[in-house]
Formats: sequence, structure tokens, C-alpha cells
Amino acid sequence: MSSEFTALVSDIVERSEKILLETPLCSRCLGRLFAKYGLGLSNQDRGLMIKTLLALKIFTEYSRGESSRRNHYMLALNGGDQLASSYMKIYGEEISPLSCYICGGKFTGSFIQEVSEKACEILREHDASSFLIGVVVDEEISRRELDLLVKYGLESMESIKRELKREIGKKVAENCGSTPNFTNPDVVVVVKIERDFTYSITSESNPVFISGRYWKLGRNISHVPWITRSGFKKYSVSIQEFVGEALRSIYQSEDVVIHAAGREDVDARMIGSGRPLIIEIKKPVKRSIGIEEANKALRELSRRYPIVLELFSRTTRSSKVFVKNEAKLRRKVYRVAVYSPEEILPQDLVKLEEFFSNREVKQRTPTRILRRKKDREKTKRVYAVRIVQVSRRVFESLIYCDGGLYVKELIHGDYGRTVPSFAEVVGKPLIPIELDVVLVED
Ligand SMILES: [Zn+2]
Repeated sequence: MSSEFTALVSDIVERSEKILLETPLCSRCLGRLFAKYGLGLSNQDRGLMIKTLLALKIFTEYSRGESSRRNHYMLALNGGDQLASSYMKIYGEEISPLSCYICGGKFTGSFIQEVSEKACEILREHDASSFLIGVVVDEEISRRELDLLVKYGLESMESIKRELKREIGKKVAENCGSTPNFTNPDVVVVVKIERDFTYSITSESNPVFISGRYWKLGRNISHVPWITRSGFKKYSVSIQEFVGEALRSIYQSEDVVIHAAGREDVDARMIGSGRPLIIEIKKPVKRSIGIEEANKALRELSRRYPIVLELFSRTTRSSKVFVKNEAKLRRKVYRVAVYSPEEILPQDLVKLEEFFSNREVKQRTPTRILRRKKDREKTKRVYAVRIVQVSRRVFESLIYCDGGLYVKELIHGDYGRTVPSFAEVVGKPLIPIELDVVLVED
């Protein structure tokens, strides 16, 4: 053994003696005060080692006639059974040791076992394959720790909260086959420890996030239920209700919500590529449902509603923000059917195709949504336009443009609030009669 190591151990033993002369501590709580030194031992074993060395010290001192019985008595009183029995062997006097100043002698292996079993039960109830343990300890316990830290200058100490968290986490991982996950756990289990070491357990089940795409094959379908002032649903179905109806029961979830990459007008279809979205399944009782099973339920429901939704893979909370935020950056292709009260001439259509090639468009907030959105101007770009004439007064146009461009206003000009517009370029009033989103770029 190196002399450095011997010096370290004897320093730890000396300081422990000083502490135990004044403060009762169990082996685990004593060992934790010197956690930083490690010595390849758990807190419990380190504390036990220190106490064994102290017992040897008592025997040596006694046989040399060096120390006072009072010191030995105090160490026996505060050092738990081990030192008390050494004292009894020497002095023939029984002592009932005091309970630990920090944990009252309650922080034991069987305590950890009991708590972890209950935590496992909760994880099983939530069908969780990953978890995170949180620990809250009563203020009084923290105050006592701080007390010792300040009084004895114990910068080597680990907090009881940290040890509880680690030990419970380890046991849970061993016992119930869930893996700890610090960033994205299925369930967070919080153990609250009172000053007398009674405890309560609460849990927070994180939502399941799944990425996918949806198609709206009919019109008048909103994203979320649209309730009128008189309390009626304005449209018979919404994407969110559709997803909820298909998935709530198989995940046994409280609620299902959607986060889409932008949205089309209620009366526009979403065809072609479909639109990306993230589905959030809140407080699911069953988490380990395969994507295929969920897709099957969605397909089944598509027979009753003109909505198609396909899920791709499990994802994380952060992708929800990503999908919503970068929606504006995705370019779109729209198909719009346009009616003109005046006759449309072939040269009008050529003019439109030529004019709207990589053209900047300035749009003030459309009058139809001014009630709920602030009036401001934004600049978007139309990259290309392709037109087919359907009849003398109707044509169909494909418009490739920036995300967030208001297409209906691009057609009719919105009383000069969108410049330039189709109507302005051909010098005739134009009315968009049908709108579809054909492509949302990846
Ligand atoms: Zn203790």
C-alpha cells in the first residue's frame, strides 16, 4: 500500500472520528461524506470500512491505556451497532446507539428495494420501456447535510438526493428491464422523501410522438374541431378528431393532438404528396403499439371519412417544433380552378404563365382573416404557373410558390392588397372556385 494511500485513509478515519464524537451516522451516510475519494467502494462499504478501522483504533488505544472511556462511549453511541459492540466487549456495558442524524437509519438496501419495486409497478402500468428517476428530499434533510458540510468542511461529500437517485435507478433498471433515459424517457418517476423517510411516488407519463403525413380528399375538413359561437361543430370532421377516433382506444390515451407543417384552407383539399405532421398521443397506457397496428386502424377509418393518414416512425418532442417551424420554408404546389365573369382568351393565359415566372408578390394580411390576424405585409415568391383552359370562363392553374403564400388572394387581388395578382395581370375579375394543395416539399 502506498504511503499516500495510507495517509489518505488515516486522514479520513481521523476526520470521521471527530464527526462521530458529535453526530450519530449510519455507515451509508458516513461513507457518503467521503464519496469523492471513492476507494472503489460504495458509500455503504466505505462507511463500514471507516467504522471497522475506528473499532480497531478503540481496541489499540484501550490496550495501550491511551484514551478516555468517554470518547469511546461517544463513538459507540453515535457509530451504530458495530462500534457499540466493540465498546461492550471492552467495557462490558450495553449501549443502545442513536439513530442516524441524516436518515434516521432508514436509508438501507431494503428501502431501495422497496421503492424500486413500487417504481417498477408504475412503469409496468404505463407500459414504459425507458424511465427517469427524480428524487425530492425534505428540506430538513438537506439542511442537516449542509450543516455537516459547513461544520466539517466536507467538500468530498455526495448529496443524499444523488445517491438515492442513482441507487433507485440502478435497482429499477435491474428489476424491471426498463432502461434509464435522461433526455427522452417514457415515464418520469418522482420519489418524494419526507424527513422521517416515509415516501410517496408520483409519475409523469410522457406523450408518444409519431411522424406521418395526411391527405384530405374532401373539402370542408378542418385541422381541429371548429366550434361556432352557438356551440355547434361547423364541419362534421377534423383531422384531429379523425386521428383521435382511430388511435385513442388502441393506445388507451387521454387525448391525441396533431402538429402539422402548416395548414391549408378548410375548403381546400390536400392531395398529391400529402402534408407532414406529428401526432402526439398524451398519457398513453399502452405505449408499445407497433406503427403497423396504428396504420391499420387509420386505414380502417379512412373508409368512413375522406381523410388518409399514414404514420412513419416514432419521433421525439423536438421534431414537433421542427415540423411546425420549418413549414414556412417548404415550397408548395397548388391547383386552383378559377372562374371569370368575362370571357378568358388564350393570350390571357399565356400572359399569366409568362408573367408569374420567378415573380415576387407582396401581400397584406387577407381581408377574410383580418379579424383574427394582425395586418402586416409579407413578400413571397411565385416560381412558376401552368394553366389549362377548361371552358370559356373557367381555367385550372398549377402554382408553384413559397409556403405561406395566400393563393386565393393571388388570384383575385384582394382589393389591391395582393400585388401583383392574376386579376390585375389579365385586367379581368377572377374568382377562385376550388383549391387543392398538390405538393408540400420535403
Ligand atoms: Zn443514515
